[in-house]
Amino acid sequence: MSDISSNSEYGYVPALDDAADSNDLFEFYDADADAIVRSADSVDFRIYTKVLSKASPVFRTMFANTSQADTADGCPIVQVLEDARTLDNLFRLLYPLDHPPFSIDDLRAVMTAIDKYAINSFPQTVDRLLLEAAKTDPESVYALTCRFPTQSVMKAAAKLTLRNPQALSPVSRTDIAHITAPQYSGLVTYQNKCKDAATLVCGSLDWIKGSLIPGAIHPGNAKLKQHPKRDCRMVDRVTGGAASASSDPTYKVPAWLLEYLDACILALRQCPLGDTVMDPKLYLPSLQKAWSCSVCGERAHLQMLLFSSALKNRVDDAIGQVPLDV
Ligand SMILES: [Zn+2]
Repeated sequence: MSDISSNSEYGYVPALDDAADSNDLFEFYDADADAIVRSADSVDFRIYTKVLSKASPVFRTMFANTSQADTADGCPIVQVLEDARTLDNLFRLLYPLDHPPFSIDDLRAVMTAIDKYAINSFPQTVDRLLLEAAKTDPESVYALTCRFPTQSVMKAAAKLTLRNPQALSPVSRTDIAHITAPQYSGLVTYQNKCKDAATLVCGSLDWIKGSLIPGAIHPGNAKLKQHPKRDCRMVDRVTGGAASASSDPTYKVPAWLLEYLDACILALRQCPLGDTVMDPKLYLPSLQKAWSCSVCGERAHLQMLLFSSALKNRVDDAIGQVPLDV
């Protein structure tokens, strides 16, 4: 008798001693299954050969070549090198079953098995799992996509690394070993280009109409003459356009607005994403100066919120145009 449990019509049932550990997660013990896949750590999965054969030509060949001498409950046994957790995750993808969230270790093991067994029937599902994992560990997911190419996930993972660009320093040595020099260099170059693109946006005001810049005023505006002695310093800056197409796009811009942009440049070098410029810590010092100005005053608050929102979109657009060349 094999070690398939004989005390249940459902075949393998985890021993009581195992009930508290991960074995009780494995549920492939259908009574009418027609084969057993035995994991490297000796957990038996009673499966339907048609399901696995449909997904994998490698499994199909293995089932066609099973030995009649090695059976349990009339089912041929196929010994594999994957552990039970990996098989459980893999079979959950092949069967119409839910699966728990995959850790990076789970994903690495499952993707290795998918590659080994030549399974290509659920690439979108795997992409979704990778994208989910990339939210918490984009560097490792980028590394996995170097080994098991999926272009859309690779670009998405690269973009998520921008929250804290640090090349691939958090990645395990296991995954680093599978990354080529161009793939590594590609990510570092991408991160640096995104920093440049994001900070370049803040280096000018030619992307936004002068009338939408907080506190800015056109030199031809009569209101400028009504306030000859402002409390804040004004600086000439070329903008994206004046109210009249024929007018000079150069506006008088308050220095406190430029200080906000300088703060954004420093922050974007640490985190080149549009959301960075929405951080109140970046614009509050400028707003406090605006509030103390008798001309700029309270209305600067709403103007600043609208401006920083437009700046965020502009930064995201600039980053979105940076290619990932690997
Ligand atoms: Zn002012």
